[in-house]
Amino acid sequence: MTNKSWTRRLPPLPGELLSSCLTRNAFAHGLSPYRFLNLIWDHDPVWNRDFDRDPETLLRMNRTPEARTWLDDIAERLSVPYETVIGATLTGWREVLGTNIAVSAADSRLILSAGIYHRTRTRHALQYCPNCLADGIPYFRREWRLGFSTWCSGHGRPLRDACPHCDAAVIPHRSMSIRLIDCHQCGRDLTKGGREIRGGPVPQSARRLQNQLLDLLAQADRRPTAFAWLETGRAELPLTVRGLIAASAPWSAYSTLREALGLAPTTTYDDADRRRFEHARFAVRTPWLETVAAWMENWPRNFFLGAEAIGASHRTFARCPMSQTLARQVAQLPARRKAARKQWKPILNEPVINRLRRTDRTAYSALRACRILHAIGVHTDA
Ligand SMILES: [Zn+2]
Ligand SMILES: [Zn+2]
Repeated sequence: MTNKSWTRRLPPLPGELLSSCLTRNAFAHGLSPYRFLNLIWDHDPVWNRDFDRDPETLLRMNRTPEARTWLDDIAERLSVPYETVIGATLTGWREVLGTNIAVSAADSRLILSAGIYHRTRTRHALQYCPNCLADGIPYFRREWRLGFSTWCSGHGRPLRDACPHCDAAVIPHRSMSIRLIDCHQCGRDLTKGGREIRGGPVPQSARRLQNQLLDLLAQADRRPTAFAWLETGRAELPLTVRGLIAASAPWSAYSTLREALGLAPTTTYDDADRRRFEHARFAVRTPWLETVAAWMENWPRNFFLGAEAIGASHRTFARCPMSQTLARQVAQLPARRKAARKQWKPILNEPVINRLRRTDRTAYSALRACRILHAIGVHTDA
């Protein structure tokens, strides 16, 4: 790879996703993002990866003779530090949200899943605020990839997770018009008009929850040594939220919970829609977040109220991500059939732990300790 930068260099804007930045750079050169990146890495199907979420897939893929990493290469071409480029991905947030996923894992907690199938994306993983997009230089924000982001507080309006004209997923790098704000499918302007948003308006409680989680991520952005920071237990909130999301996924539990918590019944969506939060559309996620927010209110009073209503036991939470906050309360629920298995043993065999043991001893010890503490928290309290 020769040492050169792009003739027109557009570094990431505040909070911009790397894919959005690269798409803008491609368009600035009058090229499609596929063509643009193919000029540099002609054998690597970069756009067939969710590199915003898992840049590791590209680091692994990189085969240049100088063994430079892909992100380093981008940094050089944009004339910005490496930290700026990795900072435009969701890497740091993923750790805070409780997923240190292996490269091939399909989903990452609380981050919307794109469902990439070759060049196609089968899910709605990128949301946007039409006003933000229409205001100044259009670009896509990192926080629009988060499942709990449903609201733009700046403009006081719900986000959209699809083209308002044809309901296609938002895939800016496939836009045929070389304009970031045009739908890749129908070519019409994403910022203008269109149908009403299903699932809106966003309840206050869901917005509050979003703000709390975003605050946590903003802190993480300021403190890059995420692992050490996670040990202090301040990442409890995302784990608690994700645990309660999982426990309320089955339709019967969900509708009973809403009733018990005094929430209005929501339009029926079948269980297929609700199997995984990270796959769900806006209209499903919004009332789901409202439900979880209500379940967390007056902690742990509402928790027990809801748990009682759905007849929850240890088993209900057996497959949920467990924060210590949640584990302490779950321990007080009836065990039903059998006691929870010892959960810490498999932790030590997780691929990510094994990988870290080889590559980064400090992070390995920190993560391992953190995981075991979480798991043991369940048992000491029980
Ligand atoms: Zn906005
Ligand atoms: Zn469209």
